[in-house]
Amino acid sequence: MANWVLKGLLSGIKSSDYPRAGDDAPGVSPGRPVGTRLNSTTAAEQLVARCPTAAIARADGGVAVDHGRCVHCFRCRRDVAEPAEWQQGFEWGAYAGEPALRKLAKIFGRSLHVRFVDAGACGACMSEARQINNPYYNMHRLGIFTTPTPRNADVLLVAGPVSDAMRLPLRKTYEALPTPKRVVAIGACAASGGIFGPSFAAAAGAAGIIPVDVVVPGCPPPPLAILHGLLLAVERKPPSALMSPPPQRTTEPA
Ligand code: SF4
Repeated sequence: MANWVLKGLLSGIKSSDYPRAGDDAPGVSPGRPVGTRLNSTTAAEQLVARCPTAAIARADGGVAVDHGRCVHCFRCRRDVAEPAEWQQGFEWGAYAGEPALRKLAKIFGRSLHVRFVDAGACGACMSEARQINNPYYNMHRLGIFTTPTPRNADVLLVAGPVSDAMRLPLRKTYEALPTPKRVVAIGACAASGGIFGPSFAAAAGAAGIIPVDVVVPGCPPPPLAILHGLLLAVERKPPSALMSPPPQRTTEPA
């Protein structure tokens, strides 16, 4: 035991510097596809056809990506004539609709309590969400805590497409949170239904059941993306966008 204490003292703090600084440590994010300019319409059609969740659509000069539907399958990246561009980073949280008008950051100060709800997720999102409590991501240093009771929660963190059995529990949990409150939907399933919904057994994400404020896309979103979504929910970080169009052409073609 003494050896581990000594090792810890000698190694210093190993937690991520995010959000004070970026984090490019290996493995913190798988990256994601973004809107891409392409040289041919055939290449664009190939990418659209290969995407299993209709996350890719033809756009002016290339393809656009709907991050809320992307499941990170890499089919638009590998074995295609013109691959989609892949962006590193993890600040993926985006407003689900109009930005909230209430300034929760002031109301909650530096303390935020989060209630997790698994609304029919496969387990991947909840596995990543659990990581924000480990020593590397260490949510407590940001004043973020989990609570088992919705009555003590400020934020409802939802994963999964909302299976039929979870519709009522999710709504009841939401109603049990005191106001003001925020809902953060994590993962492609909670954002859009993903590959499971809408279907005979699941909804098209959390927004069809309860009001959603922030969406963190990904399949699953990495822990830092979830932290970004929570910080966005209390306006401590700026938002990303759910749609990624192809970049504008900077010079006229010869
Ligand atoms: S990585 Fe995302 S955008 Fe690309 S093919 Fe898979 S689901 Fe579609």
